[in-house]
Amino acid sequence: MTADARALLEELRVRAAARSASASHALDELVHDREGSNDDDEHDPEGVTLSSEWSRLSALAEDAAAQLQQVDDALARLEAGGYGVCTSCGRPIPLARLEVRPFAEHCVACAERLGR
Ligand SMILES: [Zn+2]
Repeated sequence: MTADARALLEELRVRAAARSASASHALDELVHDREGSNDDDEHDPEGVTLSSEWSRLSALAEDAAAQLQQVDDALARLEAGGYGVCTSCGRPIPLARLEVRPFAEHCVACAERLGR
């Protein structure tokens, strides 16, 4: 299980890092586009499109960064021998949950109580 978890987490890490990199790359390009266009978003249909694209990409970048962080935390717990144990109540996290969320740090009950 531990070896599987590590492989799974490392794969997730690679994917999250790639998503994060491509989202920040797209944001960089958007900054470029924006610099070349009229700043008057409200009256410029192109500006509105850029704004919504900006929000979408920012959300993607944040999501990828958050997942990267979760995966790194899980890898650190794996390293420290605390992987698969709820960081809140100390009970084991059910395998079924870890299969869905290999980076889960809380058991189902605690996750519900904490709202995540
Ligand atoms: Zn718990």
